[in-house]
Amino acid sequence: MWLRFSSFFLFLLGGAGAGWFVARWPGTSAGLLLAALAWWLLDVLRAMRVLRWLRDGQTGEPPRMRGMWGEFSDRLRRQQRHHSQRVQDSDRRLAQFLQAIQASSNGVVLLDAEGRIEWCNQMAAMHFGFDEERDRRQLIGNLVRDPEFTACYAQGGAATLTGRGDSAGRPMRLAVRLHEYGEGKRLMLSNDVTALEQAEAMRRDFVANVSHEIRTPLTVLTGFVETLQSLPLEEAERARYLELMSQQAARMQSLVHDLLTLSRIEGSPPPRKDEWTSAQELAALCAQEAGALSSLLTAGQGAAHQLRFDPAPDMAVAGSRSELQSAMSNLVSNAVRYTPAGGSIHVAWQGLPDGQLEFSVTDTGPGVAPEHLPRLTERFYRVDRSRSRETGGTGLGLAIVKHVVQRHAAELRVQSTLGRGSRFAIVFPKQRLRRTSSEPAPALQ
Ligand code: ADP
Repeated sequence: MWLRFSSFFLFLLGGAGAGWFVARWPGTSAGLLLAALAWWLLDVLRAMRVLRWLRDGQTGEPPRMRGMWGEFSDRLRRQQRHHSQRVQDSDRRLAQFLQAIQASSNGVVLLDAEGRIEWCNQMAAMHFGFDEERDRRQLIGNLVRDPEFTACYAQGGAATLTGRGDSAGRPMRLAVRLHEYGEGKRLMLSNDVTALEQAEAMRRDFVANVSHEIRTPLTVLTGFVETLQSLPLEEAERARYLELMSQQAARMQSLVHDLLTLSRIEGSPPPRKDEWTSAQELAALCAQEAGALSSLLTAGQGAAHQLRFDPAPDMAVAGSRSELQSAMSNLVSNAVRYTPAGGSIHVAWQGLPDGQLEFSVTDTGPGVAPEHLPRLTERFYRVDRSRSRETGGTGLGLAIVKHVVQRHAAELRVQSTLGRGSRFAIVFPKQRLRRTSSEPAPALQ
């Protein structure tokens, strides 16, 4: 400001001096007037340069000048730089925030006060079948046409809906929750709860199945106990009842045993890769059990099973010894239990070309119809219910096999022809095998 006043006085002084020099007093006043006019014109020119720069959107360099206008444009430029930096910062933060929401496993939809979509992330688009760009500004009620959602939208709160991509083979259930924010706006969150609902249904079925399995032998046992308590029975009859009671108790015992095996397998850490069990040891135990079971089941039937056990290879398998034993015994005992007396059972080992080892149990039993094959490993799934019960089956054997096989990175292969027999095989991966001779074991991952 000081510069402005001093330049004005200098101009006046210069004008007055020049006027005095030209025409004394009259010239002095004219000189003063002209100097003031010239100073004002120069000032207007400077102001116009600043105005032009402002009008051009402050894109170029600000006009370089001294004095008040120079300082004015300089301060404006600094403010503008500060402002654009803040805009950039908030843009960057917004972009990061949106990226974080995009990365979320939840669907997020922002709705305005009228229920129009302002923004949604990719997960929400997948859940509801939206097109992120095309459906922006669309009314949510027109896009999600589910009565549950309509009620939830009207009253607020949460609902569980069927997702857009839902199909018989690939169900999709969504938990949706609406939260109010701002002035009448809403935040809609969606979450895929298909697996949770399936697990809950499985848990319910499982409890129902276990209760059912236990209820039957318990009812029989209670009936016999009442009979024994209330009726004076002959010794032979009494012995027969006690035998039947012992059978029912054994049935419950094996059910509890299999349930505990399953829960132990599910709850324990993955099998170790440095615990080796020789195939010969596993095969010997299977042969022993199969022989005992076969004699028990075929006793008094005139014919026995023809059991054939090929010699086990010189190999060891890495993993849990008890789990491997349980899985292989289950396959062998199933073959014995389902094959009628006189039928044959063949247990074999085969090295596959890619270094895998296959353990197989082939029988000449009743076989399984193709429609049952995919469900055989489900808990309590039985094809021949009465045969299973008669021979002490719990319906959990193949479920245990499936778990053990998965935990050992192996594969369960089932081939069966109705009326001709079945072949159940476990294929062990190369990484879990080694020769039992002195050769070094293949490197384990
Ligand atoms: P279970 O205790 O009833 O044998 P599993 O889970 O071991 O239960 O087997 C499931 C069903 O698969 C059995 O009920 C039976 O119907 C069928 N199954 C299993 N193994 C054989 C086999 N070797 N031959 C014919 N059917 C079999």
